[in-house]
Amino acid sequence: MAKLHLITYGCQMNEYDSERVAGLLREHRYELTESESDADLILVNTCAIREKAEDKVFSKLGELGKLKVLRPNVMVGVMGCMAQLHKSEIQRRAPQVDLVFGSPAIARVAELVERARRERRPVLDTGEGPLVKITAKPASAPRLKAYVTVMEGCEKHCTFCVVPTTRGRERSHTPETIVAEVRGLVAEGCREVTLLGQTVNAYGRDLTPATDLAALMGAVNDVAGLARIRFTTSNPYNLTPRLIDAVRDVPKVCEWFHLPLQSGSDRMLAGMNRGYTRAEYLALIDALRAAVPDISLSTDLIVGFPGETEDDFAATLEMVERVAYDNVFVFRYSPRPGTPASTMPDQVSPAVKADRNARLLEVTTRVGQERSRRRLGETVEILVDGAAKKNAGELSGRTRCNRVVNFDGQGRVAVGDLARVHVTEVLPHSLRGVLAASPEEAVCS
Ligand code: SAM
Repeated sequence: MAKLHLITYGCQMNEYDSERVAGLLREHRYELTESESDADLILVNTCAIREKAEDKVFSKLGELGKLKVLRPNVMVGVMGCMAQLHKSEIQRRAPQVDLVFGSPAIARVAELVERARRERRPVLDTGEGPLVKITAKPASAPRLKAYVTVMEGCEKHCTFCVVPTTRGRERSHTPETIVAEVRGLVAEGCREVTLLGQTVNAYGRDLTPATDLAALMGAVNDVAGLARIRFTTSNPYNLTPRLIDAVRDVPKVCEWFHLPLQSGSDRMLAGMNRGYTRAEYLALIDALRAAVPDISLSTDLIVGFPGETEDDFAATLEMVERVAYDNVFVFRYSPRPGTPASTMPDQVSPAVKADRNARLLEVTTRVGQERSRRRLGETVEILVDGAAKKNAGELSGRTRCNRVVNFDGQGRVAVGDLARVHVTEVLPHSLRGVLAASPEEAVCS
């Protein structure tokens, strides 16, 4: 067997793609290795969402160039969003790269690797291609939790975002292929799936007959042995009452909703082309909380979008307090090539972005901790996922609302069990508790 080393940057979708690539190449006699130095093929799966992510990749490619000087037979490939966006720049700045291919070409990876090896010159494949659900099993050991891509691409055209260029238009996989994939994962021991899409709640509208995420959740819920369903990322613009009802009614769907707001200012939301106002977003939050009172909410926020004033930023701070998010991901606006926002006037200076980033994190951390403290004294359902990070004598798992809980339960419950844990302590990044029982019935969050 030849050895494959995979380096993955970016989102969950990239993690998923890397696993499929490893699965496909295993069928062509490549086994995974953790170590760069004994690999025959190194594939770098890249992210283009912000400039910093790209800088990391170019610096890694520089290191791999040095490795190739020592071991000229090692093949280096670049896949993912940067391959799609920057193929010429990659060839110019990293001429040692043997292979560049985008997401649509993943299904052809074995053939591309073989061509690059045979022809001994760089192979490029960044064109469009038909949507293929790759059925090769992931090459890594079976896992308790898995991602399942349900759709590719995005058609939202937010003015800051490069995803429509790197991942193309929206294309949904059929419910049958998705359910078959979930069944296969569960047969290997998987207990929780996260359904993935750049705008996952737009799922199914391009299919014939059209369907939606709510219906898909119902079908996935019926897979025996699966304990939990999560989904990400939703766009407020496509959030329907049917999806809210599904989060309330489909038993395995967790009470946790990631709903990117991006900014609390209507002026910024319009400039971003998000398609909703803060009032409309708040109405969705009210509807979610009316249906599922204990729901946990998380979001993405951008600071320093072009033209953002102190007043606009204050509106974002105010939304964090008002919505009371459990978790927030904060990003400094990064101009992306070819996007409308990159040439807008009034670009915000790095110093102002850094200052707003720090101030926003202060508020989001405090609000998140206040939300976390509500769990004290509750009995929560945990999916046990292994030993605690800092204490191998303890077990760890996540609540349905995605909080880490460490507890003393060794010998009484096993990895993959649903357990009931009484929360006795709230720490900044986790909860502690004592085992209450280990039933298979779901209780609260
Ligand atoms: N499709 C989802 C949506 O927009 O609702 C999110 C997908 S994106 C991979 C994850 C997050 O990265 C976005 O929600 C946004 O906050 C952030 N992001 C995207 N483009 C950015 C940019 N140019 N600069 C800074 N942050 C950005």
